[in-house]
Amino acid sequence: MNVAVVWFRHSLRVHDNPVLSWAYESEDIDGILPMYIFDEEIHERSTASMGEHRLRFRFDCVEDLHRNLKNQLDLDLHVFSGDCLDVFQSISEQLQPFEVTLLEEYSTNPQDRKQSELIERKLINSNQNWSAKSFASCQTILDVEAVVNASGYRPPKSMNDMVRLFNKEFGDFDHVVFKTNDSNPSAKGRKQNLLVNSEHRVSLDQIRPMLSAPGYFPGGENEAIARLEKKVISQRDYVRSFSKPKSVSTNTQGNPMEPSTTGLSPYISTGCLSIRRLWNACSEIQQSSDHTVPPVSIHGQILFREMFYLLSRSVENWDQEFGNSQCKEIEWGELDHGLLDSWDSGQTGFPLIDAMMRQLNTTGWMHHLGRHAVSCFLTRGQLWQNWTHGRDIFERKLIDSDWALNNGNWLWLAGVAPFSMPYYRIYNPCPDAKSSLNVETKDAEFIRHWVPELSEFPSKYIFEPHLAPLHIQESAGCLIGKDYPNPIIDRKESRKKNLESFKLSLQKLR
Ligand SMILES: Cc1cc2nc3c(=O)[nH]c(=O)nc-3n(C[C@H](O)[C@H](O)[C@H](O)COP(=O)(O)OP(=O)(O)OC[C@H]3O[C@@H](n4cnc5c(N)ncnc54)[C@H](O)[C@@H]3O)c2cc1C
Repeated sequence: MNVAVVWFRHSLRVHDNPVLSWAYESEDIDGILPMYIFDEEIHERSTASMGEHRLRFRFDCVEDLHRNLKNQLDLDLHVFSGDCLDVFQSISEQLQPFEVTLLEEYSTNPQDRKQSELIERKLINSNQNWSAKSFASCQTILDVEAVVNASGYRPPKSMNDMVRLFNKEFGDFDHVVFKTNDSNPSAKGRKQNLLVNSEHRVSLDQIRPMLSAPGYFPGGENEAIARLEKKVISQRDYVRSFSKPKSVSTNTQGNPMEPSTTGLSPYISTGCLSIRRLWNACSEIQQSSDHTVPPVSIHGQILFREMFYLLSRSVENWDQEFGNSQCKEIEWGELDHGLLDSWDSGQTGFPLIDAMMRQLNTTGWMHHLGRHAVSCFLTRGQLWQNWTHGRDIFERKLIDSDWALNNGNWLWLAGVAPFSMPYYRIYNPCPDAKSSLNVETKDAEFIRHWVPELSEFPSKYIFEPHLAPLHIQESAGCLIGKDYPNPIIDRKESRKKNLESFKLSLQKLR
């Protein structure tokens, strides 16, 4: 009997899953063993690499996958906890009578690649009945490996480069509807549902009590499909007129939790939603009338995503500040734990920065322009801290944490990459209504929600509350320096000093 071990890692879905559909449709495969591995110990609701919201979200995704596989294809997802190699070795004896093919999603993440290489060396090469097969285009539209190895490939630097690349690959790409890889649920039970035991096997009921409560964004494929329907498919005008730079960073009026953009990133980064599904939904809407185009359209956002995946594979040391061709080696300041902790916990005395960071700490998500504001503030704007410190904090906390995208965007915002905005364009962390951060300033509802100390402050002073006269602070019930921090830095002085330091660093590099 031929068995396919389907290893779910970053594509936690049944729909448009190239790995699963191959196993399900292949004539050569008789039985399927779907599996997911929690490869880190859970301590106090989090793991070494995942903060509590990120972990909870991922758990929801795995639980939903478990349900969907059972209901749609009559397959049992095996959930394990422990080192990946140990897990595979613990089941290999039971699979001895079979020809086993380990099916893997292609990944650009070096940690995944290292794990896969180890498994190849220690398991596949030493067990004659095992072989492995990797599948491209699970996380992306492009076949990343094929593109970066094609002759004439140059790392893309801009949206124009990406448009050219997509044109070359797909022709008139803006209207293209990509073929998806769906397993036919009507043929339920067509493959044998393989069951194995292992000391590493865990039930989801064992893990759930260790986690925090579900957050604003519940994880899972069903939630992903529902959000796609609610925010994209049923919002044709919204899709046609989508313009990212015009979207409001302080979320939806009346609901300070709900993104003004699609809010699909947590589902895309965990692979609960196929990127092709989102692309196709937009293509279908855009076919019939005028619409915005890249870089500002939803397709444009997907192109940025594809660009960072290409770069993450083709640029050596993508996540490093040294030896990375996409990172200028700026002489950042010494790590200042006090400054970093204030930023991280939303206690900088700058209400917009604090509101954004508190939103991240409570929900695991933040609007793109909010991310612009806080990353600029931490690096070249005010605090002059190395971008990698902020990157690490985002990586643990974001429920949409994605190695390729997080590094790419931090490089972008720190002003160190060839594709960065000019380093001297610094956001004012105390914005007015005209700021390109697109902050709702009239009622300042977002600030009042996330920084409740300031909830009674007049809007006029709420973005720079230490400038409010004492009687206003008293009548708002919030004394600055006592009930809410004074600014941890002089924003104008630090801006001026940092601009000079950045310029000097660049001169030294020449
Ligand atoms: C410092 C910083 C760190 C970031 N880290 C991450 C991260 O770890 N994971 C992540 O998914 N996004 C990251 N982003 C990109 C972006 O902020 C989020 O993808 C976006 O805010 C998600 O919201 P949305 O789904 O409503 O986006 P929409 O505007 O609705 O866009 C649709 C999809 O396009 C993709 N996308 C949008 N913007 C970008 C972008 N700038 N780069 C790459 N892909 C994009 C996402 O998959 C997103 O879900 C980061 C941005 C910054 C500035």
